Amino acid sequence: MTELATYAAHDAESRGRRYAEEAPAYRSEYQRDRDRIVHSTAFRRLVYKTQVFVNHEGDLYRTRLTHSLEVAQIAQTIAHALALNEELSEAICLAHDVGHTPFGHAGQDALNECMLDFGGFEHNLQSLRIVDELEEHYAEFNGLNLTFECREGILKHCSHNNAVLLGELGERFLKRQQPGLEAQLANFADEIAYNNHDVDDGIRAGLITVEELLQVPLFHLYHGEVLAKYPQLTGRRLVFEVLRRMINRLVSDLIAASAARLQDSGVRTIADVRAHSKPLVGFSDDTAELNHGLKTFLREHVYKHYKVRRMTSKARRVVSALFDAFLNDPGLMPDEHKGTSARLEKIQGTAGRARAVADYIAGMTDRYAILEHRRLFDPGERT
Ligand code: MG
Repeated sequence: MTELATYAAHDAESRGRRYAEEAPAYRSEYQRDRDRIVHSTAFRRLVYKTQVFVNHEGDLYRTRLTHSLEVAQIAQTIAHALALNEELSEAICLAHDVGHTPFGHAGQDALNECMLDFGGFEHNLQSLRIVDELEEHYAEFNGLNLTFECREGILKHCSHNNAVLLGELGERFLKRQQPGLEAQLANFADEIAYNNHDVDDGIRAGLITVEELLQVPLFHLYHGEVLAKYPQLTGRRLVFEVLRRMINRLVSDLIAASAARLQDSGVRTIADVRAHSKPLVGFSDDTAELNHGLKTFLREHVYKHYKVRRMTSKARRVVSALFDAFLNDPGLMPDEHKGTSARLEKIQGTAGRARAVADYIAGMTDRYAILEHRRLFDPGERT
């Protein structure tokens, strides 16, 4: 690893773990975070969770797991170029989506609606709840006991009410401060990854065509560049050559624009970064506009496509039917979750029971949720 910049996250200056532990013998603190995430149950489940396209409809689409790996790869490139902590940014990226429900955003929206009277449901907050509370791996604590910096990076956004409840971790939302730079760049790596892989998956699924994509300035620009160099290129190779140039443009611009901002800002330490009035990682204005054009196209042509909407409406029905059934009768849940529900209900009443149901549903993979739905509602299915 190259020498870290003074404003990067340094092991020795970490704000530590919730439960004190001895320093690892041959790994850094952030490597240990990453390793705990990779060995967690929630991380393994990402392989069967949907990003946009339902996993069982085709084996080649991104799942939350492959998405998370692409995000981590992009983040490491950016961290390396800016002399930031690659290990921390990798850990944040691998964990950033572990709180997602089955069926992507449709599942999260449905679960949030179900939970409106009980404190709501938010996947980002759920990611934190998993690494702080729900993973059961260690004898001495619940969760994974990650470093403050990693938890800070996982919690991308947070409402005022939740920030008050989160104590030290919620402070920055109340004081309008920034997270460390590794967390800031992880957000951009996430966006760069999904905008570009959703183009690839969208073409593969037959929702959009290269001809339609030519109305997107960023795609048009690099499509022209590729064809100038390889006039005969068509099909998959053409798309990939364009996409790799798009990713490269976004990543290179982010690195250059952020390096310039860091220099102009005069920040010296991670404390300066946190106290700075604005985030310091970001695109230049021109590239931000190109990126915005791509996002707008995807929203209109992929996420609102009738085939995607059919999937999301099915997902909503499955999630809300499961929620209602389990909330009305927690005895329908497997013993472990029924037990958690009884325990939380004693402390928080119905809201506690609802939270246990939400945790159970949020932890399901797409196919497990579909199977549970069948077991509960199809009299011909084994229970
Ligand atoms: Mg993501």
